[in-house]
Amino acid sequence: MVSRVKMHVKKGDTVMVIAGKEKGKSGKILGINPGKGTVIVEKINFIKRHSRPTNKAPQGGIIEKEGPVKASNVNIMCSKCDATVRIRKKVLDDGKKVRACAKCGEILDQ
Ligand SMILES: [Zn+2]
Repeated sequence: MVSRVKMHVKKGDTVMVIAGKEKGKSGKILGINPGKGTVIVEKINFIKRHSRPTNKAPQGGIIEKEGPVKASNVNIMCSKCDATVRIRKKVLDDGKKVRACAKCGEILDQ
């Protein structure tokens, strides 16, 4: 059985890379892999891949694609604060639990 890592970020979150070679860059999470503890972040950690020849591109080609980043190397960003922030749990009037910026209170869940 694969042990699933508890993820502190979710798909759709805007995050900033806080460690590694892409440090300081930010983007939206396109996908998460809790089994591996990695995330795919928009425009971060581009890796070149050779694609097989297809009908459209008979020569094959090189495609650039986002590679996985360790989830522990990214931190959630608040668009209002324009910085990585701590999360505060907030309960809305309808009982829905959301994540909010601990600094300005901006709700970070869509
Ligand atoms: Zn904020």
